Amino acid sequence: MENQMTVIFDAVTENEAFARNTVAAFCVALDPTVDQINDIKTAVSEAVTNCIVHAYPDKSQKGKITITTTISDNSVHIVISDTGIGIEDVDSAMQPFFTTKPEQERSGMGFTVMESFTDSLTVEQNKPTGTVVSMTKTIRGADWKKKKH
Ligand code: ATP
Ligand code: MG
Repeated sequence: MENQMTVIFDAVTENEAFARNTVAAFCVALDPTVDQINDIKTAVSEAVTNCIVHAYPDKSQKGKITITTTISDNSVHIVISDTGIGIEDVDSAMQPFFTTKPEQERSGMGFTVMESFTDSLTVEQNKPTGTVVSMTKTIRGADWKKKKH
């Protein structure tokens, strides 16, 4: 059985907490541990912060962030996309310590954090412009299907 939700919101700093808490609240249906919920919040926070910090450098135009979260069996799939400037070289951007904003004291660890706090991470170009970050995390224990729901 699948359960899905989508939220679209402005790419501004004050929406970062909204984004991570909304995804976390939706995932509660999977009965995650506190550690698993914190992992999801951290990964979502990094991806959303990237959209806010990097995707829309022209601050006179307000960009949007879209998050679609899908619960399927015992895993959660989170897709976070923007329609901003996109990433020129995704492979380089995903390397630890790679940042295009060292002057803002960015450490270049966002994608590394997303990778280590989830089970899979893919980063793609959005069409016609922007970035799509997809993450999957398994939540329920292997014995979940044996229980009656
Ligand atoms: P940190 O996350 O540690 O504060 P960072 O954001 O620079 O630093 P990453 O999150 O790993 O590090 O991202 C690496 C680089 O990828 C960024 O410096 C930026 O150039 C690019 N990037 C990431 N997300 C986006 C995005 N949504 N749109 C455009 N560029 C992006
Ligand atoms: Mg980052």
